[in-house]
Amino acid sequence: MARPKLLLFDIDGTMLRTTGVGRRTIEQVLSDLCERPINTNPVLFSGKTDPQILRDVMQENGVPKEDVEAILPTAMAAYVEAALPFLIPENIIRFAGVPELLDLLAPRPGLHLGVLTGNLEPTAYGKLEAAAIDHFFPFGSFGSDSANRNDLLPIALERARAHTQQSFEMQDVILIGDTEHDVRCARAHGATIACVCTGHFDRPTLAALEPDVLLDDLRDAALFMRDVLGEA
Ligand SMILES: [Mg+2]
Repeated sequence: MARPKLLLFDIDGTMLRTTGVGRRTIEQVLSDLCERPINTNPVLFSGKTDPQILRDVMQENGVPKEDVEAILPTAMAAYVEAALPFLIPENIIRFAGVPELLDLLAPRPGLHLGVLTGNLEPTAYGKLEAAAIDHFFPFGSFGSDSANRNDLLPIALERARAHTQQSFEMQDVILIGDTEHDVRCARAHGATIACVCTGHFDRPTLAALEPDVLLDDLRDAALFMRDVLGEA
């Protein structure tokens, strides 16, 4: 029997995007906690974990390092509380082809789906639920597990093992993401990386990172089966 495969999907920029909920909420939460206006503009969010984003935004706004670390746990909790009410279908743009592809992949024997995302777990599932695709992802690893995205792959593997009662070889793990951080995370562990151009980065930028597979988006299920799963 063929070894089981594990597909780990990134969320933002890969399967959906929100209409600015993250930036608005982080500015509001950090301005409250730091007691002065906080601006997120200097910080690129794409591919970073939420704790890393919160840390970078505070640092860019001149918050002293020791204060950043002291505020961070409270900021994460406050962010979840403030963001969840806005993670509703009206604020989520789910990318074309995503539910159809997941519908095709989910019932396949020997194939398991999870998420690997920088979102904290509650906001990750808030977004997936608002996009009506949460039921495809019974497990995953999250920004709440580590601020360092590279740490999230071994954690996802352990969760996959616990959930499926099967073990996975790194060569049978495929990440689907939209940024250099997804590429680096896969490369750090010897997993396969498939990039999509639906986030903030265009095809030439992503091609320069030399992902194993580069797709415009997730609309063409036949192409996904061929190039990502290696099916004839
Ligand atoms: Mg992403």
